[in-house]
Amino acid sequence: MDLLTDSKAFQRTCRQWRADGLRTALVPTMGFFHDGHVSLMRWARANAERVAVSLFVNPTQFGPEEDLAAYPRDPERDAARAREAGVDVLFTPTPGTLYAPGHATWVQVPELAEHLCGKTRPVHFRGVATVVTKLLLLATPTVAVFGEKDWQQLAIIRRMVRDLDIPVQIVGRPIFREPDGLAMSSRNVYLAPDERAQAPNLHQGLRLAADMVAQGERDADKVLAAVRDHYARTLPLGRLDYLAFVTPDTIQPTTDLAVRTRLAVAMYLGKARLIDNVDVNPNPAA
Ligand code: AMP
Repeated sequence: MDLLTDSKAFQRTCRQWRADGLRTALVPTMGFFHDGHVSLMRWARANAERVAVSLFVNPTQFGPEEDLAAYPRDPERDAARAREAGVDVLFTPTPGTLYAPGHATWVQVPELAEHLCGKTRPVHFRGVATVVTKLLLLATPTVAVFGEKDWQQLAIIRRMVRDLDIPVQIVGRPIFREPDGLAMSSRNVYLAPDERAQAPNLHQGLRLAADMVAQGERDADKVLAAVRDHYARTLPLGRLDYLAFVTPDTIQPTTDLAVRTRLAVAMYLGKARLIDNVDVNPNPAA
C-alpha cells in the first residue's frame, strides 16, 4: 500500500490507473477506522481493480463549537487496517495541502440540507459536499463508496453528482453495527460506560417504529410518540436532537407512511452526538 500526502501525487497515481483502463474505487473517510469503514474498503476491494482511501478530518465540515480538535485519530493503526483490507493507496493530506490559501469555492445542496443534521450543523453539508467534490476531481474514480449510516450525506452526494454531471457511480453500503445494534462510529469512543450501555436503545427505538409500520400503523405521530417514550425509558442520559420521518431521496419531513420512508434520529449522549436511521417499509413482503 502506498501512503500519499500530496494532492498532485495522488492525482497523478489515480490518473495513471484510469489511463491503464482500470476500474477504480474511492472510499472517503475521516479515519479512526472501525469495522464499518473496513466493510466499505472490502466492498471496494471486491468490486474494483484499484482502491484508494482518503483519510482527512475535514475542518470545513465542523462548526466552531464542534469536536474538530478532539476528533479521534490513530494514523498508524488506520494504515495497518487499510493495508489489511487490501487498499492500494491511502491518501492523507493535511488541511494546508488540500485547501489552498484563500479557498473561496463551495458546493452546496441546500434543499437536501434544510432538515435533520443540516439544521443543527449549518455549515456541515457545505463542507462535506465541497471536500467530496475535491476528492472526486482528484481521484476521478469509477465508483465512490459511502455508508448509509450518514443517510442525509449520501442523499446529498448522490444529488450533487447527478446535478454536476460528475462521472462517478455512487454506492451506498449498509450500516455496520456492534453485536448489540449500536451503529459503529469513530465518535463512539466518546461514550462513558453508562452511556455506552444505554446507546443500543437508539437503534432499538428505530426498529420498534419500523415494526409498528410494517404491522399496519400509519399514524406518524403515534409512531414517533412510541419511540420518544422508548427513549425516555431506556436512554435517560440522552438528549434528543431530532427524530423524524423523511422522504428517502429528498430528505423532506413526511407523515405519509403508506410509502417507504426513512426514520432518522440524532441524540446527544455525553460528549457524543449519535446518529442512526432505518428503512421504514409499509409492505415489507412486497
Ligand atoms: P467517517 O470517517 O465517519 O466520515 O465515515 C467515512 C465513511 O464511512 C462514510 O461514508 C460513512 O457513512 C461510512 N460509515 C461510518 N460508519 C459506518 C458504519 N457503521 N457502517 C457503514 N458505513 C459507515
